[in-house]
Amino acid sequence: MTLRLHDTASGRKEEFCPLEPGVVRLYTCGPTVWNTPHIGNYRTFLFFDLLRRHLAVRGYRLRHVMNITDVDDRIIEQAHTAGVGIDAYTRPYREAFFEDLDALRAQRAEHYPLATEHVPEMVRLIARLLDRGYAYEAEDGVYFRIASFPAYGRLSRLDRSGLRPGARVATDRYEKESATDFALWKRAQPIDEQVGAAWDAPFGRGRPGWHIECSAMAMAYLGETLDIHAGGVDLLFPHHENEVAQSEAATGERFVRFWLHSEHVSDSTGEKMSKSVGNIVTLRDLTAAGYDPLAVRLFLMGNAHYRSRLRLTEEALHAAAEQVRRLQDLADRLRGLEPGLRSDDAALYADALDARDAYLEALDDDLNLPAGLGHVFEVVRRANAALDAGRVGPAGREALLHLLETVDAHLDVLRRRDVELDDELRGLIAEREQARRARDFARADRIRDQLRDRGIVLEDTRQGVRWRRVER
Ligand SMILES: [Zn+2]
Repeated sequence: MTLRLHDTASGRKEEFCPLEPGVVRLYTCGPTVWNTPHIGNYRTFLFFDLLRRHLAVRGYRLRHVMNITDVDDRIIEQAHTAGVGIDAYTRPYREAFFEDLDALRAQRAEHYPLATEHVPEMVRLIARLLDRGYAYEAEDGVYFRIASFPAYGRLSRLDRSGLRPGARVATDRYEKESATDFALWKRAQPIDEQVGAAWDAPFGRGRPGWHIECSAMAMAYLGETLDIHAGGVDLLFPHHENEVAQSEAATGERFVRFWLHSEHVSDSTGEKMSKSVGNIVTLRDLTAAGYDPLAVRLFLMGNAHYRSRLRLTEEALHAAAEQVRRLQDLADRLRGLEPGLRSDDAALYADALDARDAYLEALDDDLNLPAGLGHVFEVVRRANAALDAGRVGPAGREALLHLLETVDAHLDVLRRRDVELDDELRGLIAEREQARRARDFARADRIRDQLRDRGIVLEDTRQGVRWRRVER
């Protein structure tokens, strides 16, 4: 089996093979820690997780770097308004980011470099670009001259007639329509000094522009050529275009072998989720509404292919929660099965093996998890029917558990969180059951709300009441 990934630069699925056998050098653009990320951002981060996990399934060792952008225009403005330094301002957002990653069970990258801790690398890279004539000094900083780099615009298929040679953009908020020379270094303003966002450099005290951060940190950890660079499609232009220009102008080497981009999340009306539209939903919003982070995980990863838009609706979240429950239930039923007592359904056994092959094949085809899950849930349905009929024996049990294990290498939803409830919570659940049996639904609902406030969500199922813990 060969792994094929869709490379944005070529516009095609290509067979993936790393430069150094067995090791993948992966760089992914991380968060700018100026506010709380929304679900659209986490879709991107979980796409990275899916990519990581599948590369590991295919036997590769990973060297994965995800940067944390902890200095930019917005951070400086917000820190200034709050009257604190940028480090103090960004710290809670950095911590919350990792808490969210843990709640969503995203595997940790090997490195999470902070931009502010890699300024010397950025300064050296800018000096190199100045030396080689790709950058120039202006009054307010150092700029990259896009006219000096003939391949500029190739990655994002930019119409080069739209280039505005000599036009400059100093801000970190870029216009998507026009390509201009962009700031590599911005001379320090009084506000930068006040919040601790200024560093010395041969070309004057100041701070790095956003784009140069990624090139410098990627090359510092992974060398001049990366196997894979991934990010949200939002970053394709100008951020990734600028990364290519700076990096290749400085080294003369190819910067990235595979470019992978994941699509947006939209709200239930189909509008792209964004801060400026005002329709953002955070992970905390969803867990406060009672959704299990694992359901959110499965929804973001598996509801649509990563290159398709994903629409956030209550129905889709409920469906994802149901999928998590079905996988967990089947695993429980299979593990609890007495081996050797039943006859095996030979067709089910064969289907479980086939489904596993089809699942892995779908993942090898540009990480098509939704297609893979389609094969799996068909077998899950049949497995439950066979279990009900007592037709799962030792061979079928093994094959089905093996299938679940294969799926869980990507989904990671079968590990249960802490399963202990204290006596008081147990008492409340029992009390609610009594109220329900006495048809005192108002009281039952009150207890349900009380439990919700304590981070316990109840589900009434055919097998009885189930509970799970959610973030509050
Ligand atoms: Zn980046």
